[in-house]
Amino acid sequence: MLKGKTAIVTGSTSGIGLGLAKALAAQGANIVMNGFGDIEGPKTEIAALGVQVSYHGADMSKPDEIEAMVRHGETTFGAVDILVNNAGIQHVARIENFPPERWDAVIAINLSSAFHASRFALPGMLARNWGRIINVASVHGLVASAEKSAYVAAKHGLVGLTKVTALENATTGITCNAICPGWVLTPLVQKQVDAKALGLGVSNAEATKLLLGEKEPSLQFTTPEELGALAVFLCSSAANNVRGVAWNMDGGWAAQ
Ligand code: NAD
Repeated sequence: MLKGKTAIVTGSTSGIGLGLAKALAAQGANIVMNGFGDIEGPKTEIAALGVQVSYHGADMSKPDEIEAMVRHGETTFGAVDILVNNAGIQHVARIENFPPERWDAVIAINLSSAFHASRFALPGMLARNWGRIINVASVHGLVASAEKSAYVAAKHGLVGLTKVTALENATTGITCNAICPGWVLTPLVQKQVDAKALGLGVSNAEATKLLLGEKEPSLQFTTPEELGALAVFLCSSAANNVRGVAWNMDGGWAAQ
């Protein structure tokens, strides 16, 4: 379905980003990977799906590196058709204890990076009159939790940016939508499980059960594969008129 298209997926060395990159690759899209940590392992996993994969190590807190990543996609594959703004970090603390430099980093990586990547990718998409921008927000783009001020502010901002991007391109072949997962068991969430286990003196399994029980009525993690299927749908022609939506896949979290 996406043969001949190219997708940049930011933060695709791990977790949800890797799942989204694999789902798009399974539909034939060439992938520009991005993110830190192990690169060769995830790159091999994506390439095994029979597409071309290129890696760019842009730091999503640096606008000039984000521009270089988009240009890298354009020169390597001829175009950037799909942009998945996924890279993100978390910091958990009450506002009065929240380190200002962590606030700045969360806002830069979880929100401003999507603005910069979109502004660099949109001219090419407009020239071809086709594009898909998928912003990986969170259920925290729709509702809040204590001790996550920067994350909740960034994700609410990302849902707002999604709507504006959709509206500005509403008469074109470019759509922009947000995906809002509940808990997904990735390294980002494993850190929160570990902190809970340590803080309460309980096992990892017990901490996981408590984490899900607090927020997610299904008591199940959403998986990167399930999110990948949603991203594939948003890239399909069936989703031509899905514009500016913030679609939660959260086990009922935001329905409460
Ligand atoms: P993860 O920690 O597994 O992956 C994060 C990815 O972002 C990694 O590839 C990492 O290298 C990359 N990254 C971090 N800082 C970067 C930077 N400065 N520049 C470039 N890349 C950078 O986390 P995840 O859970 O897969 O999170 C992916 C996205 O999904 C995030 O935006 C997160 O907020 C969102 N999300 C996660 C959950 C969850 O439960 N895991 C729920 C809702 C939303």
